[in-house]
Order: sequence, then C-alpha cells, then structure tokens
Amino acid sequence: MNPTIILLPGDGIGSEVVAAGQEVLEAVADIFDHTFKMETHLVGGAAIDAEGDPLPEETLAACRQADAILLGAVGGPKWDDPTAPVRPEQGLLGLRKGLELFANLRPVKPHAELLSASPLRPDLLPEVDLLVVRELTGGIYFGRPRERRQVNGETQAVDTMAYTESEVRRIAHLAFQLAGERRGKVTSVDKANVLETSRLWRQTVTQVAEEYPQIEFETLLVDAATMHLITRPATFDVMVTTNMFGDILTDEASVLTGSMGNLPSASLGESRNRHGNPRGMYEPIHGSAPDIAGKRIANPIGTILSVAMLLRHSLGLEQEARAVESAVGETLKAGCRTGDLATPGESALNTAEMTKEIVRGMSDE
Ligand code: NAD
Repeated sequence: MNPTIILLPGDGIGSEVVAAGQEVLEAVADIFDHTFKMETHLVGGAAIDAEGDPLPEETLAACRQADAILLGAVGGPKWDDPTAPVRPEQGLLGLRKGLELFANLRPVKPHAELLSASPLRPDLLPEVDLLVVRELTGGIYFGRPRERRQVNGETQAVDTMAYTESEVRRIAHLAFQLAGERRGKVTSVDKANVLETSRLWRQTVTQVAEEYPQIEFETLLVDAATMHLITRPATFDVMVTTNMFGDILTDEASVLTGSMGNLPSASLGESRNRHGNPRGMYEPIHGSAPDIAGKRIANPIGTILSVAMLLRHSLGLEQEARAVESAVGETLKAGCRTGDLATPGESALNTAEMTKEIVRGMSDE
C-alpha cells in the first residue's frame, strides 16, 4: 500500500508528538512492507508566523488530496492576543469544516497498568471502555453571528449556538451504528432544560433511537454527565454530544486513563479517499501544552494511538493498527512511563525514549 499521509505538527508539543507518530508510521511501513508518502504542512500559529494565515490554501488543498491526516495541536500564548485578527484555532476549525469532518471519535479505555496514575479510585476504572462521539462542525464553535458590538455604551461579545436537525441526525445515526458494534448502549448528552438547540438535539436523537430498538438509550444533562462520568464511568458505552460539550467532557474523561496525553481521536466525515475509506484527520485530544513545549517530555501515546486509528479507519490496515496498540500496551506493561504518567518514585522517559520503546515493541512481535 502506498498512501499519502499529511503531517500537520502545528504548535508547541504538536511537533514533538507528530515526530513520534511519524516514527511509528515509518516502523509500520518497514515491518509490514508498505510505502507511506508523508508530507509536512503548516497550520495554526506556525502558519500565521510563516504566511499570516492559520490555514494556508496549500495546506487545505494537500489535505483534500490526502488519504489521511495526522495533526499535533495548535495554539499558544504567542498568538493569544484577544485583539489579533487571526488565531491558530481558526486553522483547526477551518480544517474540520473544510474537510467536512463532522464526527470526532474519542475512545477512552484505561490501560490496566495505569490505574494508579488516575486520580479516581482504582476500583471504578477496570471496566471503563467508552467512546465519545462529538459533533465537530456545528454548534457554538461555528454559529454566526460571532462578534463584539457596542450595546448601551459598553462592549458586548456574542457567540451563536445553532444546530440543524440533519446535523444532529447524522451524528446520532453514527453513534447508534457504533454502539451496535460495541456494547449496545448510547447516552446522549445535552442541556435540554435550558437550551433550544439542546431540545432539538434531544428530540432528534430520541427519534433516531427508535430506529435502533436493540440499542439501550439514555439522555443526560451535561452538568449531571460530568458527575456521572467520574462516579459511574464504566456504565457508559457510546456517549454522543455536541461540539462544545464533547470538547469539555473528553478532557474530563481523559483523566480516567491517567493523563490527557494518552487519548487519541479520529475526525471523520463522508468524504472517501483513494482506498474507499474515510479521509480522516487524526490527533491526540490534548493541546499544544505551552508549559512543557520544547522540553521534549510530552507523552506521545495519544498521538501514537491516533496513528493506530488512522491505520484502521483511513487505510483499512487492521492488523497494523492492532500491532501499534498492542506495542503501547506492552510498553506500559514493561513499566515505561512519561513524566505525566509516572507516580512518585517512578522514573520517567522522555518523548523520544518512550517512542523508541513502543517502536521496539512492534518490531519484537
Ligand atoms: P493542553 O491540552 O495543551 O494542556 C493541559 C495540561 O495537560 C498541561 O499541563 C499540559 O502540560 C498537559 N499535557 C497536555 N498534553 C500532554 C502530553 N502529551 N504529555 C504530557 N502532558 C500533557 O491545554 P491548555 O494548556 O489549556 O491549552 C494550551 C494551548 O493549546 C491553547 O492555545 C489551546 O487553545 C490549545 N489547544 C489546542 C487543541 C488542538 O489543537 N486540538 C486542543 C486543546 C487546546
């Protein structure tokens, strides 16, 4: 197989973890006899610095032609001026919208070896295996108007949360289909007691649920969901929710696994690549982590597991995906930890050392 994979390191630790992802892709190509054509492009703050545009046309065009995309993270204090005309996050949102990636899949499954790295009681964690299906191209991150305006002599800021029925329906169908391949339960999260968009969300997801009578269905308000996620995390299978609620809930869910640095994600839409698979974008759920950027200590596992999702969903390489996932598991089992995972007294590997151990684990199989 000789697919084209676009690498978008972005900012901060983005370039450090994407380098780890690239090393794993090269190892997969070697071991399984594939040729992966990898091209690196600019996005986010790095693209603003180089070209004044967080999503250069050339980057979007390359992604539209690619078989899959691996992204690091964007953003950082350098570009945080609230009056700046362009922001790194516009690059990320532009990619999601431009590639019509409406579904973001975020699996949360703690590794048995990392139960002590989570702040939760270890007895709550062993059975946790949930998948957050986050709507990615609608809601308050995209609604218009979005502006500052003068009202009664002072500045008012406005964001708009909007959802159409069809946007809700397509993500709901995906959630129920995915639940059918898993443990058969969907939890829809909204704020239907307050928000009109959430009432449409709940009504539409409930209608879709009727088409899947074999799937158990529950709804939760988002405030309660944040609590249930830490008091009964093992009771969730597929959790489907809006763009902003999914963004927030998955940062919370990530600590079930011990660190945000562990969590991968896949963003998928209807577009297909040359192999007939979804042209997906894969990225760890964390941000650019300016507090540790440049120290080369970032945990690469979220990105490496994103590579596994890329292999599975966009390239149809299930065996290769499993080899990557099992190498991550074996490396953790062998006691290897990055700083965010090490408990007091445990020594920590840096990004490159952890990546080498995982690559070695793949070669050994
Ligand atoms: P963050 O996710 O970057 O970091 C939160 C905390 O988790 C930090 O203490 C960080 O050191 C730690 N952390 C994150 N990833 C880690 C890893 N792989 N290994 C070890 N520790 C890790 O969130 P933040 O600090 O709120 O945001 C920083 C910047 O990232 C902001 O500019 C924000 O807009 C941006 N951001 C980008 C994305 C994205 O590109 N998808 C997502 C979230 C935040």
